Formats: sequence, structure tokens, C-alpha cells
Amino acid sequence: MLYTSTRDKSIRVSSAQAIAQGISDEGGLFVPCELPEFSIDKIAAMASMPYTERAKTVLREFLTDFTEEELEYCVSGAYRADKFSSPAIAPTVNVDGNKNILELWHGPTCAFKDMALQLLPYLMTVSAKKTAEGKEIVILVATSGDTGKAALEGFKDVDKTRILVFYPVDGVSPMQKLQMTTQEGKNVAVCAINGNFDDAQSAVKSIFTDADIKQTLAEKNMMFSSANSINWGRLVPQIVYYFSAYCDMLNMGKISAGDEINVVVPTGNFGNILAGYYAKQMGVPIKKLICASNSNNVLTDFLKTGMYNRNRDFYTTTSPSMDILISSNLERLLYHMSGEDDKLVSSLMSSLSADGKYTVSEELIGKIQAVFDAGFASEADVDATIKSHFDKYNYLCDTHTAVAVKVYDDYVAATGDDIPTVIDSTASPYKFSKSVLTAVLGGNTPELDEFDMVEELNKVTGAAVPAPLASLKSKQIRFENVCNKEDMADMVFSLLNIN
Ligand SMILES: *Cc1c(COP(=O)(O)O)cnc(C)c1O
Repeated sequence: MLYTSTRDKSIRVSSAQAIAQGISDEGGLFVPCELPEFSIDKIAAMASMPYTERAKTVLREFLTDFTEEELEYCVSGAYRADKFSSPAIAPTVNVDGNKNILELWHGPTCAFKDMALQLLPYLMTVSAKKTAEGKEIVILVATSGDTGKAALEGFKDVDKTRILVFYPVDGVSPMQKLQMTTQEGKNVAVCAINGNFDDAQSAVKSIFTDADIKQTLAEKNMMFSSANSINWGRLVPQIVYYFSAYCDMLNMGKISAGDEINVVVPTGNFGNILAGYYAKQMGVPIKKLICASNSNNVLTDFLKTGMYNRNRDFYTTTSPSMDILISSNLERLLYHMSGEDDKLVSSLMSSLSADGKYTVSEELIGKIQAVFDAGFASEADVDATIKSHFDKYNYLCDTHTAVAVKVYDDYVAATGDDIPTVIDSTASPYKFSKSVLTAVLGGNTPELDEFDMVEELNKVTGAAVPAPLASLKSKQIRFENVCNKEDMADMVFSLLNIN
């Protein structure tokens, strides 16, 4: 299996190279040249496997330059029983009728990012051994809140790696911030930036592709890589849980082998839902992929009209991990859906960076709409959904998951399409205790600090508090740096102790 770039399809790299490098030199994203196909019998046979075996069955097809021992080492190291609070790793839970929730937040940082970022450091170190000639890998991360912590936790004290995380100073929840600023480990650093996630992500992408900076690192025997979902190694672990959810639905008797399901994904950078698209292309019977946004609904507009326009107000919402106006992984979808038209993708991405917008042909958006539906939820919708689902079904969802649940309810009301459905749940409600508790209490926010808020939410709802969040209370703050986005490159050098 070889990989190419969305902006230059003459490129051919192995999976190890794609993962170690993170992003292609000309700024494109690595994508597989072709997708493996699974028959429905092969998928149904995965239903009797534990998560780690399901993972190996899918990953084996993509990481063809990894040996079976390497694959086993990576997967068994990542999805360990002492790191995930559910033995199923990513359990599918029935809420009501055909409405099922895929809980992706049982890992060590309580967000779905763990599903990929527990595995990525293993994939990265094995890949670096194959391709990076002993260089130290410097992972640069821009985070809207959850990636940062999950990447820090995954890479902490991993040999021959350093990790630097940038987060928007006012753009993360108090719990997300505490998780990052208290991070332990010898090879980690965290810095806030005056700006939003898009500013952080754009600055990180330009640092990656800056020839002078790369040269400076090379002289120190270092190289950059990415733990954001621009890295193929972030996406490939996410494909697994769509197979796994389908298997769970079989095991729960909700469907028979071959029946179609719908999938709903609370979306920001378009990585999670894109993994669902890959799963569908590989043979998982998914009818529609429903893209759910919060008030930053740039993707809803794109999927409805074919025009992507980031020139709009940016909202800071209660679902901060989706406060994104530049969705990086849409680039990969455009590449696949346009018949691998790298010239078109390059020109669309140039328009996006120059003018903040682009429009695709009617033919192309038509093809996309045959697979994707979209909707968005307001802040009031999110609160009402958290409350109604707790009151009616005793199911407590976080703010991001509530966006998806609301968009799904709207989709069913509009289309009548209520086939068995899987809704991705991307974070523990305790990462956003204040917003969730306020919603459950019908709009009253108690005057409490973050940890008392957690306790109160537990008292009111009875939902279990994840141990990794409870233990933060006793941790020391280690990182209080703040910088301007223009100064991020200098900050990188200073954090690496080089100039
Ligand atoms: C990152 C994140 C999302 C958005 O996922 P993308 O892959 O960026 O679309 C949604 N919810 C939560 C809780 C997240 O951390």
C-alpha cells in the first residue's frame, strides 16, 4: 500500500514515511493510493473479535510495511486495559430505538482523540526507525482542546520524541486547560497563544513547511512531525472504530450483516467523519454520513451549497473542540471525490488561503451530497438536548455529542430516514462540567470551582467521574507560557533550546 499527496499525485511514499513526515513537502496531505476492500463476510467475522483484533484486521491492510510483530506491538501497547475504562475500548450503547451512541472517550484523557493518539506514538516510533535515520522527532501540535492533552499523554517520555503543544488562550474549557498545563513528562511543553485554533493550526502548518526552520532542525538531528489529523497516522486508527461499531450493532441484534446504518459525527477538522467515509468506501454498509456542526457552521453551508467560506464571525461555544473554520481534512475528501484531481485541490486550497473561500462544481458537490448530509446546532439546542436526553433516557452526553444528537433528530424529522444509526460521542461530559451541569439544571449555573462542579454534576446525575480527571486536582501547574501567533516559531526554538 502506497500513499500520495492531495496536491501532487506523482508522489509515492510508504505508510512509515507518511506517518513520520506528517505532511507532504508541498503542503498536501498524504492519502492512500487505493483503498482495501472488505467483504461483508469478512466484516461480520470481526464481530467475535475483541477491539485489538478488529484493529489489527483493519490496520494490517494499510500498514503493509509494518511486520506482524510491529503491528502487534503497536496495537497491544495502545489499547491496554489499564488505560481504557471500558473493556470494549469503544462501546456502542443503545439510547432508544434505532439511536445508538458510540462512546469514544474511555481513554486516558476522556476524549475520542485517545483512540488515535494512544496508537500514534507507537506508529511514529516504528515508522521513524524505518525512515528517519535516528533523528529526534519533534511533534508540533495545534489544539482546540482535546488533541493537545491526548497527544501529550501519548508521547510523554517516548524515546527520541519531543512534543510541543499550542492552544488558544481563551478557547478551551477549564478542565481541558488544566489537563494540559499540569502535564508530566520530560519531553513535553505547552504554550497558550493569543488567537483561536485556526490561527494556531495555520502557524503550525507554516512552520512545518518553512525550509529554513526545517534546516535548523536538521542540523540538530531533529525533524518535525504532526500529531494533528493532517497526519495519516491519526486517521487510520479512527477507521477501525467504524468497523467496530458495525460489529457491535450486529452483536446487539440491531442489524443483520449487510444492513445499512447511518452515522452521525460531531465535526471540527473533518478527521473523524472522514475516517467514516474511508470505512464506507472499504465496505462497511454506511448509508449516510451526517456532519454535525455547532454555530461555527462553515461545513454545513459547504455541504449544502458547494461554497466554502471562512469569512464569517467566529463563535466561542460550549463545544470548543469544534470551534474551527478551516477544516483541514476536507482537502482529502475533495481529492477522492474529484477523481483524484490534485490540480483542482491545489487551486482550491490556494483560494482558501488567499481569499478564505472556494466554490466547487455542481457535479462535485452533488457527488458529495450523495454520501454526506449536514446540519448544525445552536447553543440553546445543545443545552436542551443534554437536558432532554438525561431526563428521558438517563443518558448524559457532553456538549459536542449533544450537537450530533440534535442534528440527528433534525435529520430524522426532515427525512423520515430512521434506520439504525450510530452517533459518535466524542468526549466525557466531565470535560465540560460547567456547561453540562448548567444544561441539566435547566440554565442555572452554580457558583463553584471546576472540581466542585465535577462533584456536583456527579451528585445530580450519578454518572461516574473518570479517574484521570478527578486526579488532576492534586497536580502542579507546570506551563504558563503565552505568546502571539507571529512568535510561535521563536517559541518553538526556545522550547527546544535551539536558536
Ligand atoms: C476534536 C474533537 C471533535 C472534532 O473532531 P474532528 O475530527 O476534528 O472533526 C469533536 N468533539 C470533540 C470532543 C473533539 O475533541
